[in-house]
Amino acid sequence: MATSRSDTPVVIAVAITGSVPRKKDNPAVPVTVAEQIESTHQAFEAGATLCHIHVRNDDESPSSDPDRFAAVQEGLRKHCPGMIVQFSTGGRGRDPAARGLPLKHRPDMASLSTGSVNFPTIVYENSASLVTELAGQMKQYGVRPEIEIFDLSHLHGAKRLVEAGLIDTRPHVQFVMGVQNAMPAEEHLLDILLAETHRILPEATWTAAGIGRNQGVVMDWALRRGADAVRTGLEDNIRVTKDRLAGSNAELVGLAAAAVSRHGRRVATTAEARAALGLR
Ligand code: MG
Repeated sequence: MATSRSDTPVVIAVAITGSVPRKKDNPAVPVTVAEQIESTHQAFEAGATLCHIHVRNDDESPSSDPDRFAAVQEGLRKHCPGMIVQFSTGGRGRDPAARGLPLKHRPDMASLSTGSVNFPTIVYENSASLVTELAGQMKQYGVRPEIEIFDLSHLHGAKRLVEAGLIDTRPHVQFVMGVQNAMPAEEHLLDILLAETHRILPEATWTAAGIGRNQGVVMDWALRRGADAVRTGLEDNIRVTKDRLAGSNAELVGLAAAAVSRHGRRVATTAEARAALGLR
């Protein structure tokens, strides 16, 4: 396992909105399409090169409306040239049958959870048939998946998709740690996950997301282990400290960029980010 990769730049991914935090939790959470484009543009200027997108209905509930996804994508392509656009196919409160509908707009990437897991108040259901269907749609539309790993078994779910020819042999995987009732944010668990990734998906690129107060510490663990990318943003964490709300996605991206520097690495450009993740 690589322990030092000072020669390779780090992709900063920003998850701008998510499906849980609301404006009453932090007024900086972007909800409308215009707010999402503006917030992402600021994050882009601060060094983010990948944007993970959920969209909301007017009442802030999670939406699967393909037109909203398309509108955000159009704004990002105009105002954040080269930035990697990644649609979420997950999220709470969405009809499973509708989660793949926005893929027809051909974002660069989409998130793909390869198994089910307990979340704070629900079961996040990803049946084997749904996973296969979403992977097939991504292949059809030329969308690269980011495999969301909420549990060790999800790595093997990804391996099965490789064997089925639905995804290629160098997927981008993200370990998600610190979701209540799911995998805790424990450093030795990251080592277990990485060892298993190297064993069964040796060409994979990887990143890790720490939820809530775990955001910074998981980022440090990932950077210490040579991660290809780090993830930040208001979807995962709305605070800078216990007592202070983050002022914007850009502020969180700035903290991520500082962490990258602290670990002796540098922030990827859009071209470098695309090359790292196998995108044109
Ligand atoms: Mg998400």
